[in-house]
Amino acid sequence: MRRYSCFIIFFSLGILAYSFESFAQNQSERQKLLTVWAGMLPIILSAPHGGRRSIPGVPVRRGAGVTQFATGRDNNTDELAETIAIGLEKRLNAKPFMVVARVERKYFDATRPTESAYESREAKPYYDGYHNALQEAHDRVSREWGRGLLLDLHGQGAQAEAIYRGTGNGKTVVSLTQRFGTEAIIGPKSIFNQLELMGYKVLPSTTESHQEQRYVGGYIVQTYGSHRQCGIDAIQLEIGTQLRARANLERTATDLAEAIAVFAQEYLALVKSYIAIEATNLPKILAAIGFSSQNPPLSYFLKKGGSLARSS
Ligand SMILES: [Zn+2]
Repeated sequence: MRRYSCFIIFFSLGILAYSFESFAQNQSERQKLLTVWAGMLPIILSAPHGGRRSIPGVPVRRGAGVTQFATGRDNNTDELAETIAIGLEKRLNAKPFMVVARVERKYFDATRPTESAYESREAKPYYDGYHNALQEAHDRVSREWGRGLLLDLHGQGAQAEAIYRGTGNGKTVVSLTQRFGTEAIIGPKSIFNQLELMGYKVLPSTTESHQEQRYVGGYIVQTYGSHRQCGIDAIQLEIGTQLRARANLERTATDLAEAIAVFAQEYLALVKSYIAIEATNLPKILAAIGFSSQNPPLSYFLKKGGSLARSS
């Protein structure tokens, strides 16, 4: 009987070890199919349609009953996002947040609501993984910097040499334009005017009509944009085929990084908003370092990590 129960214990442990291992394998498989960076800048890069890999054992989507069904890849936008991120880190001395899908759009589409995004249960964790990572980045930027910019990167073939701007005609950047006016979108330090100065065609151009027509901004900017409560400013960029061609990719990414950095230095609070932390947690922080509210400190300073200390 004892031998028998030992056998059961070993057997159960075996199953446990096996399921843990397969859980860990699934986890690491998922990580390979999604690239996520936690950033130190209030900038988030998203690239949902550049992936080339399949999800093992999952059939491609058929799209029955789905409106605006699309499975096409935005070639090289995954690599473009990474090269922009590296360029931003060089210029601003810190990494942006980044979420890049390595899976083909054929298996799941991060730019659709849940019910139209995937058809197989096995694809759900990848879709959820993408949006959880974006939500987490969005929440951190909103909490730690107060505001920030999400850039959702895509590819289009309608105008091979152009970059389309999509903000729902200003809706998803409403916080930015309320604070700084439309200058922040079309003025000299805007991403789009910077790109024009480098010789790029942007649509709509910063000088003519400001109406966005062809790509007005899809699900991601609509979900995370600043028209939403606690949202951050969000812009969709639709980049022409020619600009994403292998031979031009490095230059396009470098120029985009430069344009975004110019914008960021003018319009983003690149230092975390410690003042907000101070205001909400001041009594608690003061108590923690030995001051009571009846006996406020004569002076104190804010340390880099956001905590208060008595100045000497
Ligand atoms: Zn796309």
